[in-house]
Amino acid sequence: MNRLFLFLLLILPCHWAWAHEARTDALFEQWRTGREAQVQAFEAFLRGEQLSDVIPLAHLLRTASDWQRCRADPFEVPPPSNWPDVASTLRLVAELKRRQLLPPFEVHSAYRNPALNECAHGAEQSAHKTHFALDIVTAGDQSAWLASLCQFWRNEGQRWHMGLSRYSSGRIHIDTKRYRTWGNIGKAPLCAQ
Ligand SMILES: [Zn+2]
Repeated sequence: MNRLFLFLLLILPCHWAWAHEARTDALFEQWRTGREAQVQAFEAFLRGEQLSDVIPLAHLLRTASDWQRCRADPFEVPPPSNWPDVASTLRLVAELKRRQLLPPFEVHSAYRNPALNECAHGAEQSAHKTHFALDIVTAGDQSAWLASLCQFWRNEGQRWHMGLSRYSSGRIHIDTKRYRTWGNIGKAPLCAQ
């Protein structure tokens, strides 16, 4: 087999999920025009909580991968009533990053308003809608770090009110709504003992 072909075969699956992301930084800059006051208030909140550097704003405000089909905005500032949950989830992610329990990742879905959550087939009481949750996409083999992440969930998840799951697509869901773990319908919970 041609070496270049083999090389492409190895790297393509890792980058496939990110390569087709339409919600670019340029699109974010375009979207925030006209919403400047709202975005700046949210940025000021994150600065006040010392959480500005955990996840780039243009990723943190991504709504749902189905935004185009649902005719929704690609980005949205969560309502202020959800901001304490934004802070607690970002604090958890910062801790996971500090302890090197997460590989490099990209956020594909965070806050979803009720209409978008329903269109995107989110659970009725989805943490994406009622609190603040992150669906993240990672590259490469997950088994190497997922066991450690589940270990963290078992040991310290209760204190963080940490919700942790993985969808069939491989995306990881993290929130701080309530201590729990689950899996795909009919499958064992992600961090089953
Ligand atoms: Zn999720």
